[in-house]
Amino acid sequence: RRGACFKAMLDRVQRLFFTQQRLIGDVSHELRTPLTTIQGNVELLQRMASAPAADASPRVQEYAQLLSETLTEVQVETERMSTMVADLLLLAQADSGELKLQCTPVEVDPLLLDVYRQARRLAEHYKGPHGLEIRLGSEDQALVLGDHDKLRQVILNLVENAIKYTPVGGAVTLGLTHENGWVKVAVQDTGIGIRPEQQALIFDRFYRTDKARSRAFGGSGLGLSIAQSIAHAHQGRITVESTLGEGSTFILWLPEKRDVEGNSARP
Ligand code: ADP
Repeated sequence: RRGACFKAMLDRVQRLFFTQQRLIGDVSHELRTPLTTIQGNVELLQRMASAPAADASPRVQEYAQLLSETLTEVQVETERMSTMVADLLLLAQADSGELKLQCTPVEVDPLLLDVYRQARRLAEHYKGPHGLEIRLGSEDQALVLGDHDKLRQVILNLVENAIKYTPVGGAVTLGLTHENGWVKVAVQDTGIGIRPEQQALIFDRFYRTDKARSRAFGGSGLGLSIAQSIAHAHQGRITVESTLGEGSTFILWLPEKRDVEGNSARP
């Protein structure tokens, strides 16, 4: 009897879980349309506010300026919501096993080079010119089977975090190596680091080690959970090693694509 009772409870929990999963997927899908409408209208208002009639009174000019500033804030927040909705949709798809990957052979070395260039732009954006040093470490050649754009998104996410959480004067190093059939993409920083007890939690949804600081950077705490979902969808994973106050190394592990004879697919 106790067994039956337990089973009924488990069934209920599982039903609840599925209902919640569906809800997240449906709600984020439904939010997209009104959000797009709001963004469109704000943009229109912004254009009207930024061009008041030349003969408008100083008072009207002043209002227009104020309106324009307010609308810019609305724009930033709706942009943030849009990103979050897209992220939630992606997570809901990953949960229900519907994450669609466009799998092709992907050369990881040129992909890393592309991310490296983007990283230099991001570093300048967040930390100013020469604020951070962006380096390329070991750079093997590597081929994996995967979704080029989603893999780029994952690596870029790790790089963006490394840049955000490293103070001016620090360095971020990208590297690409092989190990026992695995391709390892490493993003190493000399930043603030993560406490041991928090290292497993940072892959949870909405988890941020420091809510105030992370929000100042526009983070929602969804980035790493999405990156981990995408890594799992590629039969890979993301691991982290970190020392508080010294820095962190995030590694994306992907199965190496090999030819029929079991050799590495490229020399
Ligand atoms: P967020 O959008 O807040 O950056 P993430 O899911 O990308 O969310 O990361 C979760 C949390 O993990 C961050 O809020 C931050 O506290 C921590 N974190 C991620 N990357 C790093 C890093 N390179 N150095 C220090 N802390 C990090």
